[in-house]
Amino acid sequence: MIPFLDLKKVNLTYKDEFIRSFTNFLDSGNYILDEQVNLFEQEFAKFCGTKYCIGVANALDGLTIILKAMGIGCEDEVIVPSNTYIATILAISNCGATPILVEPDIKTYNIDPQNIEKAITKRTKAILVVHLYGQCCNMDPIVDIANKYSLKVIEDAAQAHGARYKGKRVGNLSDAAAFSFYPSKNLGGLGDGGAICTSNEELAQTIRALRNYGSNVRYYNKYKGLNSRLDELQAAFLRIKLQSLDFDNSKRRAIAEFYSKSIKNQSIVLPSVEGDPESHVWHLYVIRSECRDSLQEYLYNKGIQTVIHYPLPPHKQEAYFEWNHCTFSISERIHSEVLSLPISPVMLEEEYSAIVEVINHFQ
Ligand SMILES: *Cc1c(COP(=O)(O)O)cnc(C)c1O
Repeated sequence: MIPFLDLKKVNLTYKDEFIRSFTNFLDSGNYILDEQVNLFEQEFAKFCGTKYCIGVANALDGLTIILKAMGIGCEDEVIVPSNTYIATILAISNCGATPILVEPDIKTYNIDPQNIEKAITKRTKAILVVHLYGQCCNMDPIVDIANKYSLKVIEDAAQAHGARYKGKRVGNLSDAAAFSFYPSKNLGGLGDGGAICTSNEELAQTIRALRNYGSNVRYYNKYKGLNSRLDELQAAFLRIKLQSLDFDNSKRRAIAEFYSKSIKNQSIVLPSVEGDPESHVWHLYVIRSECRDSLQEYLYNKGIQTVIHYPLPPHKQEAYFEWNHCTFSISERIHSEVLSLPISPVMLEEEYSAIVEVINHFQ
């Protein structure tokens, strides 16, 4: 079986460095918000090109903390794509604000800037974009609309570590961005982790306090905060993996380019890249087929594991029963047709060649 993602293989590449790092961590006697988190924050801010990076426990917390730090809460509306992973929307709900779903572009699967303006009301406070599957959103028109209506822009960059838009990295294209280091992400730890990037000093200070009980000075609490800290040990592991992130992303890009030039099956819609090649870091290689379920079964029977990202759109989830009667036809079509093929920095040529061969024989 060709696995969808062989995480063990990905991480064994770093085994010796991880063990060395763990030993140093153990010997240090400092296990919370210490040297490793500090250094990782500096290194990741530098990587993204932002002034500040604040480590947090995961991306859901990261997004929630950004919204809280911006003062977004009850009575406020936040515009968000209708076809994102549920965490993006949960963050808005967590703050007591109302998510306003906007349909994506059927070509890129990212929020369609043309649909944003008509969703704006006098309660709108922010636009929360998602660089879905690793492809950077078309930011210029989004930032223009935000400026016109004095809205904040926030990036959910959980799938797009390292992607560039007109030379700048994601994380540095908005007021603040949240990243996830969940093990399967392009930069993944050996457990949960996340970070917030921003160049706004005041916002950074509030965020830094919010992740640590709302406190900047020990035992003095300025805000009603959370306990959402990036773990020292995960930070130590992430520092090691950050060094090869660009290289790993280039391997993903090479596999994606191979798939796109070699898959010839006319019934399959291939991903389209809107900007330059570096605007996509291929967290997922997502194809579309009107016979998606039979294609998935066919591939499985030929020894190829695939995953659907995602089978049910947010507005059809039980948790959001209030939206269950709504129609978002582009989002629904995407959810019924998408299929993610295996892609990772440790895949072998014989594996991705075999996948193309099998797909080209699907009828
Ligand atoms: C993974 C993911 C998240 C959540 O990340 P966690 O660190 O697991 O909280 C949020 N948004 C998107 C788009 C994701 O892919």
